Amino acid sequence: MKIWLDGGLQDLGSARVSVLDHGLTVGDGIFETVKAVDGRPFALTRHLDRLTGSARGLGLPDPDLDEVRRACTAVLEANPMPLGRLRITYTGGHGPLGSDRGEHGPTLVVALGEAARRPDSTAVITVPWTRNERGALTGLKTTSYAENVVALARARERGATEALFGNTVGQLCEGTGSNVFVVLDGEIHTPPLASGCLAGITRALAAEWTGARETDLPLEVLERADEVFLTSTLRDVQAVHRVDDRALPGTPGPVTAKAMRIFAERSGDDLDP
Ligand code: PLP
Repeated sequence: MKIWLDGGLQDLGSARVSVLDHGLTVGDGIFETVKAVDGRPFALTRHLDRLTGSARGLGLPDPDLDEVRRACTAVLEANPMPLGRLRITYTGGHGPLGSDRGEHGPTLVVALGEAARRPDSTAVITVPWTRNERGALTGLKTTSYAENVVALARARERGATEALFGNTVGQLCEGTGSNVFVVLDGEIHTPPLASGCLAGITRALAAEWTGARETDLPLEVLERADEVFLTSTLRDVQAVHRVDDRALPGTPGPVTAKAMRIFAERSGDDLDP
């Protein structure tokens, strides 16, 4: 397996980053996960725009997007696979112990892993921890993901594959690695970005293509929603058949099934050349 580091391809087994890299010591980094179908990245331009936005939000220098594109192409060509997940990681780089950034430039790593096709439906849980809709990192795709790791482990313990967070004012927000949609009386709703959720790329495409509305939703909406579904780069549109102890029989419901179909049809056009 070849990865990109320090301006070129390297063997995964021997590539080295400093043990004082701020991505490791203080979670000072950002990332993107990009789906690649037969070596072609999906919606890469949108991912690179978000990467730049996350870098600016964290006060990192703008990533060199020409290099990131070259890196993605090189890694995909070196590791052919039918369905892959490109992982672009960009950190504050080697720095002093503590939170001040050092003089060194940022670290860019592009790696690739095999991705599995997700089942059409899944179970989710809600967790009692909250997303902060007004934090310094809100809306940025940073490598500070430990809270998501804890919540996802809780979901796995309960036979689910995703954990949903509310925010500090009790509104539905998002999952550990996905956005959430609910169907009420035939209409599709998803929490607005002001809820603290990530501006998911799949969320934006699915909302545009299905006419979903952004709506402030109380977390309890999950107890009465007719249908629930998730969106993410690796899930695409995925129906939810259980929320905590509440089963949603007949999943995928008609509205979700239509959203899945529309996404599958339309997303074929959005692969970057
Ligand atoms: N929310 C969070 C916290 C995420 O980490 C992700 C993706 O990793 C998403 C939502 C979904 O975003 P996207 O559709 O761009 O993959």
